[in-house]
Amino acid sequence: MDFLRFRLFLSLLTISGINMHSGDTLKHQGLRSKLLTEIQHKGITDEKVLAAIGKVPRHLFMDSSFIRFAYQDSAFPIASGQTISQPYTVAFQTQLLQVEEGMKVLEVGTGSGYQSAILVEMGLRVYTIERIRSLFLEAQLRLSELGYSAHFLYGDGYEGSPSYGPYDRILVTAGATEIPDKLKSQLKPGGIMVVPVGTSGHQDMIRCVRKGSDEFEITMHGGFVFVPLLKGKRES
Ligand code: SAH
Repeated sequence: MDFLRFRLFLSLLTISGINMHSGDTLKHQGLRSKLLTEIQHKGITDEKVLAAIGKVPRHLFMDSSFIRFAYQDSAFPIASGQTISQPYTVAFQTQLLQVEEGMKVLEVGTGSGYQSAILVEMGLRVYTIERIRSLFLEAQLRLSELGYSAHFLYGDGYEGSPSYGPYDRILVTAGATEIPDKLKSQLKPGGIMVVPVGTSGHQDMIRCVRKGSDEFEITMHGGFVFVPLLKGKRES
């Protein structure tokens, strides 16, 4: 292929949206489709969830020392001693949430912002809350650079954010010791919350559906390991 034809080929790739995010190459896209096959084998069936995992460039949410592992199905450390969840876990929680386009979702535990980007990619109105100020600031910048629009809140997710509620869905991405009452009260009637509940080192994935003003249906969906949901805010 001569030089001009090669340039034309590159611009066609860009026009067709293949290289929408700078730093997202065909190699990354190939690794993402392998990751999709892997999480499908582990039981993820929701097409909308799979499409979002296939689109969001996870390597752009990772700490620089782990970028080359971005498409392994594993959790990795991010700044401030926290983690970016395993893609299977992100997909599993999102699948349990049973979202529909346009719903208002509160995510507790912004972390890297990867899960928030998945929810935005699925057409949801996303409110995400983080207790560590530096992570809140970094995730906000990262998502805006990548063109994902979400509302970022700095605060204690145990309290939720009643002023923007009630929510169709609430997704907690850190391990709680019990289902937080204040979050239950911020669910719309019929709303669903997915929250890992347990001790440090082991949580059960819980789905909590608001059936009536004081009536909740609780179901359990297997064991996971998350960093703990902690009370209060942290400056750095
Ligand atoms: N959803 C994240 C995973 C982050 S790990 C991602 O996709 O990368 C869990 C996050 O929850 C951490 O960043 C931690 O600081 C945060 N967290 C823990 N307790 C919290 C609380 N009470 N309120 C808000 N965020 C909290």
